[in-house]
Amino acid sequence: ATPMSIMTATGRGARAGVLVKDAESLERLASVDTIVVDKTGTLTEGRPVVTDVVPAGEPSGDRILSVAASLEKGSEHPLAEAILRAAEERNLQVASAGDFAAVTGKGVRAIVEGHDFALGNATFAEDLGADLTAARDRAEELAELGKTVMFLVKAQPGSADLLGLVAVADPIKPNARAAIDGLHAEGVAIIMATGDAERTAQAVANALGIDDVKAGVLPEGKQHLIETLKAAGRKVGMAGDGINDAPALVAADVGLAMGTGADVAVESAGLTLLKGDLEGILRARRLARATVGNIK
Ligand code: ADP
Ligand code: MG
Repeated sequence: ATPMSIMTATGRGARAGVLVKDAESLERLASVDTIVVDKTGTLTEGRPVVTDVVPAGEPSGDRILSVAASLEKGSEHPLAEAILRAAEERNLQVASAGDFAAVTGKGVRAIVEGHDFALGNATFAEDLGADLTAARDRAEELAELGKTVMFLVKAQPGSADLLGLVAVADPIKPNARAAIDGLHAEGVAIIMATGDAERTAQAVANALGIDDVKAGVLPEGKQHLIETLKAAGRKVGMAGDGINDAPALVAADVGLAMGTGADVAVESAGLTLLKGDLEGILRARRLARATVGNIK
């Protein structure tokens, strides 16, 4: 592209609410037939709020939330922010934690008041030896509502006791449905890829009319999905906001970052949707189609 046409693309993109870093990405958007979307922070607001604290035995809900907050102090995950905010609102005491470890896509673990605790998804709790049977029904009910469920366990050598669960809700963005409907109308397939659990992902996908869901995927899994689709001859866009989306944003034919997201996401993408507005994809596609001749 010539400098002039790049300036045109940049200016028109900005008016459509899309920051164009790479004019060729905008051009390629016209022919994209599949868009992979991250859930948290992309389809949803990315500001989860604690809605349920469910004890599994002795310790009270407040105790569970207090330990969970101690564990999350060292994490920058949106789930950690939600838990810390909830503990603060309830004026709970939050002890400092030692030996903090964050496991990407799974959860956090640390020593609190001399005990080894972990908070994370079902896989994480089960890997530590916890039996989640007692909490299974409740966890599934919460997940059916699109809530993300985290399990708090106390780890012993070779096993773990379930103390309770914490659920958070993360509202769907107001115009996500309109954006998905618009893309579907143009024959674009939408696939959700998320690190969250199957049931939670499915509930959000159902609310948005997304029929294909890949849940429980780690960052490399999102990248692998993009590569598989491209190898099958698809023209693939990827929309995401997080550090965990960066490899997939780079791998896609067109990377679409949320302007509200992590810096690495924005740096990894050719296009950025201002204010994380997904309808910007539709506006940018129309722009790309209208100006494809001019850009060349
Ligand atoms: P997403 O793709 O939805 O942004 P992640 O890959 O970051 O999700 O995380 C996947 C799952 O791992 C979360 O839904 C949660 O259950 C668990 N998890 C990740 N980080 C944390 C954390 N800091 N605290 C508790 N649970 C976590
Ligand atoms: Mg995300």
